[in-house]
Amino acid sequence: MEQLLIGFGSNLGDRTVALRAALHSLSCVPGLRLLAQSALYETEPIADLPQGLFLNACALFECNLPPQIVLAHLQGLEARHGRTRSQVGAPRTLDLDLLLQGERCMATASLVVPHPRMRERGFVLIPAAEIAPKMVHPQSGKTMLQLRHELPADCGVRRFGEWVEAEASG
Ligand code: AMP
Repeated sequence: MEQLLIGFGSNLGDRTVALRAALHSLSCVPGLRLLAQSALYETEPIADLPQGLFLNACALFECNLPPQIVLAHLQGLEARHGRTRSQVGAPRTLDLDLLLQGERCMATASLVVPHPRMRERGFVLIPAAEIAPKMVHPQSGKTMLQLRHELPADCGVRRFGEWVEAEASG
């Protein structure tokens, strides 16, 4: 059994509903067991295209699936939530990333683990450090908590709430 860290994001449609449905679906996948979920965080988009704020979160699972199968589940869920890949950096109803799987390091055409951009992203490291502070990023040898402390003081990530709360309208 390994620990698996997944990143969640949405900035289109009812973001809370999309993240909650994805968390529920993943926790029902045979071979995955939900251990913890972070709070939801609201984040400025980093893309150049004008678009709404993201909701982001992380979840930690116990996992006995190979990484490619995990990725297939993530991409299946993204597709079920109507995600299209029209343009790089376009708004998305659901974005799921395989961040860490134990201390595996791999790079294939379709899957890079650890996720290559996780080390500089506040919207990944803040929720990751909340639920998996001692989990190690194998290439740097640093924990999620250590990497989180290396972020700039204001990295544009604000605590939004819990998954159970309804998203404010308007
Ligand atoms: P994005 O549009 O940012 O969600 O990127 C999706 C693409 O990244 C897909 O083609 C995946 O095959 C690829 N990818 C590579 N590594 C990962 C990873 N660790 N987690 C999720 N997608 C990944």
